[in-house]
Amino acid sequence: MGSAQMQSVRDQGPASHDDAIVSRNPATGEVLGEVPVTSAADVKAAVARARAAQRDWAKVPVAERARRVLAFRDEILTRAEEVIELISREGGKTRLEALGMEVLVAVDLATYFCKRAEGILAPHPIPLHLLKTKKSYLHYVPRGVVGIISPWNFPFSIPLGETIMALIAGNGVVLKPSEITPLIAVKAKELYDACGLPRDLFQVVTGRGPTGAALIDGGVDQIIFTGSVTTGKKVAVACGERLIPCTLELGGKAPAIVCADADLDRTANALVWGAFANSGQVCASVERVYAHEAVYDELVQKIAERTRKLRQGNPLDDGTDVGAMTWDQQLAIAEDRVKSAVASGAKILVGGKRKATGPGMFFEPTVLTDVKQDMDVMRKEIFGPVMPIMRVRSEEEAIGLANDSHLGLTAYVFTKDREKGRKIAERVEAGTVMVNDVLFSYGAPETPWLGVKQSAVGRTHSDDGLRDLCQTRHIAVDRIAPKREMWWYPYSPRTYGFMLKAMRLLFRAKKRR
Ligand code: NDP
Repeated sequence: MGSAQMQSVRDQGPASHDDAIVSRNPATGEVLGEVPVTSAADVKAAVARARAAQRDWAKVPVAERARRVLAFRDEILTRAEEVIELISREGGKTRLEALGMEVLVAVDLATYFCKRAEGILAPHPIPLHLLKTKKSYLHYVPRGVVGIISPWNFPFSIPLGETIMALIAGNGVVLKPSEITPLIAVKAKELYDACGLPRDLFQVVTGRGPTGAALIDGGVDQIIFTGSVTTGKKVAVACGERLIPCTLELGGKAPAIVCADADLDRTANALVWGAFANSGQVCASVERVYAHEAVYDELVQKIAERTRKLRQGNPLDDGTDVGAMTWDQQLAIAEDRVKSAVASGAKILVGGKRKATGPGMFFEPTVLTDVKQDMDVMRKEIFGPVMPIMRVRSEEEAIGLANDSHLGLTAYVFTKDREKGRKIAERVEAGTVMVNDVLFSYGAPETPWLGVKQSAVGRTHSDDGLRDLCQTRHIAVDRIAPKREMWWYPYSPRTYGFMLKAMRLLFRAKKRR
C-alpha cells in the first residue's frame, strides 16, 4: 500500500487532537475509541490520590496483599477473551499472540508472585562474619507510588506485569500507556476496578509524551520505563534531576548465532517465529542472523520455505500467522531499513514490501541475504518483520559480530552441543542469551528481564525485581550491649595497640610453603 492510500485509511473518522487521542485498528483503520490527554495538573492529582490510597495499602501484610491481587488475576482470567480481542484489535497482533504473549504472561506472573511474595519480601538476614555480637538484616519497605511508562508493542503484558508486581510490593501505581494503544490500559483499569481493590491505588493517565514527562514530575517515588533508547535517555535525565530511581527497559538488536552443528529444522522454526511474531515488533526479536558457512545455504532455504508459508492478514481471522504492524511510523522505519539495505547490495529473498491492497498496516515477512555488518539493517533496531541473514566463516567471527552493537538485550545461540552453546552464550554481551530457543524468557517471571550496554538500566521480573520495587533498608541490632564498644571514645594508645594486634592476628595471610 502506498503512503497516499495509507493516509486515506488513517483519515477515516475523527482525528486525534490536542485534548484527545483517537485509537484505531491498525489492520482495518476502524476507529475503536477515544481517550483524553491528561493534563500535568491531573497527573499530579492522580499521583496524590494513589499516594493517599497507598498509605493504607502499605500496612496490609504481604500475604493479604497477594491474596487481594489474585482477585485481579481472576478477573483477567474470567474476561480473558474480551481482553484478547481488544489487544488484537488495537495492537494488530493475532489472537494467539494476544493470548500467549500478553494475557497468559500477565496471569502467570501474577500467580507466581502472589504465591511467593511473602517469602521473597521476608526480612533477609546478613550474618556478620566478624561482629558476632550484632544481628543484621534487610527489610523491604514499599517505595510509595510507582510511575509506569509503557510502549505500544506489548500494551498488556508489560504494564500489567509491572503493575501487579508493584502492587504486591505494597505500592500505588500510576500508568501512562503509549498513545498508540491506550484502550488496553483503560480496559485493564476497568477490570481492576471490578475486583474490589482500592480504586485510587492504581490509576491510568492517558496522553502523549508530555503526559509521561508530567508523570515523572508528578511526585512519584520510582519510574519504570519501557521504550526507545532516545526517550529512555530523557527519562533518565528527568529522574536524575529529581533523584528518583528509574528502571529503563530499552531497545534490542538480538543476534542469532547458528553453529555448524545446529539442528536446522528447530533453528529455522525458531528464527522464523522469533523474527516475525507480533510482526517483529518485539524488543527481543531476532534482528540479525549469523549463520556458519557450513549450514548457511540449507538454513536460508529452510527459513525462506517457512516464511513463504506464513499467512498474513486480519489478526482476528482464524489461521492468520502474522497480523498488522501497530504504528504507521514504525512500518515506515522497517520499510526504510529494507530499502537502504537493498540500495547497498542486500537481496530480498522473501517479502520486502508493504501489502499492496486493502486497508491496514501490513509489511510482508521479509528475509534478506547478502547483508553486511555496516548496513543500518544490521546495526539499528528494525522493529518490524525483517530477518537479515549473514554468512560467517566461524563461530568466533559470529561472536565478534554479535557483540559489535551498542545494544545488548537478548541473543540466541543454536547448536546441538549444549556445553558449547553455554560457553558461547557466556561470551555474548546481552542481558539474556538463550541456547536453542528465542523470546521465551519474558514469559518466565522468575527470570530477570534486563539488558547490557544501551538496552537497559536495572531489571524487571524475578525475585530481585520484586525487591527492587521496595526500598531496601538495613537494620542492625546488638545482641549484647556493653557499656561501650572498643572503638568508641575515649581513644587511647592501649586500644590502638590492641586493635592493631587483633587485625594482624585475624587477617595475616597464611605463610606459603
Ligand atoms: P517510545 O520511547 O517512543 O515511548 C515509550 C513511552 O514513553 C510511551 O508511553 C511514550 O508516550 C512515552 N514518552 C514519550 N516521550 C516521553 C517523555 N519525554 N517522557 C516520558 N515519557 C515519554 O517507545 P515506543 O512506544 O515506540 O516503543 C518501542 C521501543 O520500546 C523499541 O525501541 C523497543 O525495543 C522498546 N521496547 C523495549 C522493551 C524491553 O523490555 N527492553 C520491551 C518493549 C519495547 P507516547 O507513545 O504517547 O509518545
